[in-house]
Amino acid sequence: MDGTADPPAPSHPMLPEGLFKGRTAFVTGGGTGLGLAVSMRLGRLGANIVCASRDPAHHDRLLDLGTEEGFAAVVSLKMDQREPDQVREAVEAACAKFGSIDVLVNNAAGNFIRPAFALAPRGFRTVIDIGLNGVFYVSREVGRRMRKTGGGAIVNISAPYASTGKPGVVHSACAKAGVEAMTKTLAAEWAPFRIRVNAVSPGPFVSRGAADRLWPTRELEETVRAQIPLGRFGRAEEIAELVCLLASPCAEWITGSVLLADGGWTLPVPLVAPESAGVRRKRPT
Ligand code: NAP
Repeated sequence: MDGTADPPAPSHPMLPEGLFKGRTAFVTGGGTGLGLAVSMRLGRLGANIVCASRDPAHHDRLLDLGTEEGFAAVVSLKMDQREPDQVREAVEAACAKFGSIDVLVNNAAGNFIRPAFALAPRGFRTVIDIGLNGVFYVSREVGRRMRKTGGGAIVNISAPYASTGKPGVVHSACAKAGVEAMTKTLAAEWAPFRIRVNAVSPGPFVSRGAADRLWPTRELEETVRAQIPLGRFGRAEEIAELVCLLASPCAEWITGSVLLADGGWTLPVPLVAPESAGVRRKRPT
């Protein structure tokens, strides 16, 4: 149940070809879901791609597609971002190969649904370790290099419940709230070094990983879809386009922003449906 019942993605690319030519992008979790869509878009726009996550088998599709499409370069690195030493080694390897990292996309995270009373401390800790502590470790390592090489752009992936909260995902909501605080804090701290830090906050979008853990049956998928005023799940490609926009020179005056793209998921729900309250459209005169 991965949202594939939704119509296929139309293509509305807004960024010019070659925009990232000669740049290197480090994408955490860049081999699956949104991370794959971001790696693909940045690669098509000319960037060298460094994909880092725990399981290199998850990078196979990116490596195949990158070769097929003639990307400038695609490198796969094994890295568990909960481990600061592994993060340092991966960032060092990327810099040794390409000289600099110009774009960092902090996409990797973990999530599952569990009411707080049933959530074991270990489960809470794991989600915070990946989705908050890991984001700091990667940002710090990459930020230090960006500072030395004249700057760069960091885009973090948040979620709308960072500010609203969401029953069932207290662990992820806390991690994402921290990521948004980190986005603004580092944006302010690192602006003098020409490092921009922004975030994209997507509502529910089509992704195998999210579907398996968050809406594993057709019924649950329909329940989530019914909560989205615009009537469909997001598409990884349209979220990826926003990530690339914030990472690009087109956004050179934007830092500390959190861009919400959620189909209206977080808008207030009407008290009663307007039709059932007897509201009629005024006839045109
Ligand atoms: P996904 O495909 O499951 O992606 C998660 C990625 O994170 C995987 O590639 C995984 O690779 C990597 N990862 C997990 N633990 C890691 C660790 N310890 N170290 C390094 N990498 C690790 O899920 P997705 O739905 O595309 O999610 C991508 C981002 O969007 C996440 O930040 C998520 O919170 C956010 N988001 C998703 C939705 C949605 O509806 N899908 C909505 C709002 C926000 P390995 O297994 O190889 O480590």
